[in-house]
Amino acid sequence: MTNGFSRRRKHHADANEQTDSFGVLPHQIRGHLSTFKNTIIQGEAYEQCTACSHAIINAYRTDGVDFIINACNDTSLLEAKSGLQAMKESMEKMMNDFDDISDDEFGDDDDAILL
Ligand SMILES: [Zn+2]
Repeated sequence: MTNGFSRRRKHHADANEQTDSFGVLPHQIRGHLSTFKNTIIQGEAYEQCTACSHAIINAYRTDGVDFIINACNDTSLLEAKSGLQAMKESMEKMMNDFDDISDDEFGDDDDAILL
């Protein structure tokens, strides 16, 4: 956190930007036990992020602390507000549609012949 605050552009700084005092602040550090090595990973912004998407930031700016209190009291609020819930439902519908197509074209498993 100190590293983030020491940057000139604070939380708007580019990933892996070098600072004089604290060095690089990576998005993620992943450790690999098989090789005992760490990898620095840079992530991209995600429009349905429940933490930093535009919808969540705008809801916080509009409702302030009330938004946080409501999010603590309603576990589905962040997913609904960020669009993550709609995306999950859309993907589930696509999977169901795909299952229907698969069954129509290839028959269901009851028709399988064991050799
Ligand atoms: Zn985010």
